[in-house]
Amino acid sequence: MSKVIDPKRSRVIETLSLSKGRRTTGPERSRRIRVRYAPSPTGIPHIGNIRTALFNYLFAKNQNGDFLLRIEDTDQNRLIPESVEKIKESLELLGLKWDEEEHQSKRLEIYKKHLDILKGKDLAYEDDGAWRFKVEKGKTLQWDDVVHGQVKFSSDVIEDFIIIKSDGFPTYHFASVVDDHDMQISHVFRGDEWISSTPKHLLIYQAFGWEPPKFVHLPPILGADHKKLSKREGAKSVIEYIEEGYLPEAIVNFLAFLGWSPKDDREIFSLEELTREFSLDRINKNSPIFNLEKLNWFNSQWLRRLPQKELSKKIKKAFPRYDPKIVGKLTPLIQKRITNVNDFPKLCNFFFEVPKPLDSVVEKGVLSKVAENFVKVSWNAEEIKNSIEDFAQSQKVDKKDLIVSIRNIVAGRPVTPPLYESLEILGKDETIARLKKYVS
Ligand code: GLU
Repeated sequence: MSKVIDPKRSRVIETLSLSKGRRTTGPERSRRIRVRYAPSPTGIPHIGNIRTALFNYLFAKNQNGDFLLRIEDTDQNRLIPESVEKIKESLELLGLKWDEEEHQSKRLEIYKKHLDILKGKDLAYEDDGAWRFKVEKGKTLQWDDVVHGQVKFSSDVIEDFIIIKSDGFPTYHFASVVDDHDMQISHVFRGDEWISSTPKHLLIYQAFGWEPPKFVHLPPILGADHKKLSKREGAKSVIEYIEEGYLPEAIVNFLAFLGWSPKDDREIFSLEELTREFSLDRINKNSPIFNLEKLNWFNSQWLRRLPQKELSKKIKKAFPRYDPKIVGKLTPLIQKRITNVNDFPKLCNFFFEVPKPLDSVVEKGVLSKVAENFVKVSWNAEEIKNSIEDFAQSQKVDKKDLIVSIRNIVAGRPVTPPLYESLEILGKDETIARLKKYVS
């Protein structure tokens, strides 16, 4: 296989971006943009697959085109029944609405009809009950890949391949080409691992006299070790990520940046904004590296942008055991401090259960007096603050030490939402009780 960058590539891409809103001449460019996400229902798709779906979606919607979901269920041995639902759920969770839905298993007649055409042209022959495509040797098969430029194969390395299996179902190659043509797909987005299948597809296009679509082979997402992304490193499903407290907006934003980048250095993009900005010429040729910290960062950014009420709702839903009224009061205090909804208990569980106190920095006698003092404070953050500051000054205690000590005892952890507000929410009685218990 030889891959060279086509100097004409940038021109091709320019033409593409022109096609929006303005009809260009020529048979190819006047075609409506239609793309398909074509998963095989052999399991729950992981985020690498969903990134392919996202790029399909963004391109289609950017071009006012159609996004098809095509279930490639022709390999009967590998079907896992619930995968279709999981595929749809993954897309729905991210807001990737498809315009049309097809299932290859319902199209067997169409493949059979196309087999007959090839038989008529003497381009297919039977072999053990299956049907093979006759590969003409000595041919050069090449295409101008949107990501990789010119890619070339010789047909000499391709053996006659099966197009219809003995069970009557088509193989991936055959069904994919017949469908891409029949469904008028203009651009095929798929993982790089399919590059070596494309020459076979081109042979089928040629056999029927059809014009192939544009191919956009996306480099795979790699782990930090530059190897195939493992489950442990992040190759999980969208459904799992959402269960782990990641927001759909953050997942979309993160996935878009795995292999694509905008013109400027802006990083926060909603699905709508990505749709507006997306362009083929900004898809990267190099494999993107999965970086969980980056996903966490996107998540914290999107958490901040959520309306407070919505964040409250999410926390309440994730932690039904917590008093929803208190969750509501805590939400504004933690919104900028969490990177994930699931961080809430780490920061806030001391509001709902008595923690094991950490050590005090100041002497117990001092804490005892602080507790006494609190009795007469009118209990709001401002007054609590004044009381602690006055106390520190009059008793010649370091204010910082005092604050650290109160936090260590009342919250049992070194990091909390802002202390005065936290004490207000915790309540006067509970605060005093925790201090007193510690000094007793
Ligand atoms: N069914 C193939 C897959 O599971 C689709 C490849 C393609 O998009 O052509 O990835």
